[in-house]
Amino acid sequence: MAGTKTLTIIKPGAVANEYIGPILAKINANGFHIAAMKLIMLTRKMAEKFYSVHNDKPFFDGLINFMTSGPVVVAILEKENAVEEYRNLIGNTDPSKAREGTLRRLFAQSIEKNAVHGSDSDENAVKECDFFFALSERFSKFE
Ligand code: UDP
Ligand code: MG
Repeated sequence: MAGTKTLTIIKPGAVANEYIGPILAKINANGFHIAAMKLIMLTRKMAEKFYSVHNDKPFFDGLINFMTSGPVVVAILEKENAVEEYRNLIGNTDPSKAREGTLRRLFAQSIEKNAVHGSDSDENAVKECDFFFALSERFSKFE
């Protein structure tokens, strides 16, 4: 059975452009429950650990510089089949390829500054939620 939670990050570019409110409104309008949320600055160590699967990619250094360039919103979102549903809502990694109406199409600046993160599997969603939030910081509808 598919999982009920995913982790999102509203990235520094979208926060700087005052898109926190518009993005959260779309998240709620699409039936997600916000189970945990905070506005924080990622340290380089945190960003490098979070994106460690990409540490051999040519875009890694740029991505880490960007992700540590300003505050981000991290949140746990809940819905049936959350990972797939949220990946559908955010759209393609490259905003020029993202469907009309998706968060990346609406709010991204570039493939790097693409507005939001969304977990890519239930297994990674669990790891990513644990990376940012203690159990006492979560207000789940499902657990
Ligand atoms: N990224 C980038 N250049 C690329 C591919 C990815 O700067 O050519 C950045 C982008 O911010 C993306 C993140 O690295 O969201 C992680 O890449 P991934 O392939 O996991 O994309 P996602 O799962 O975020 O769609
Ligand atoms: Mg990814």
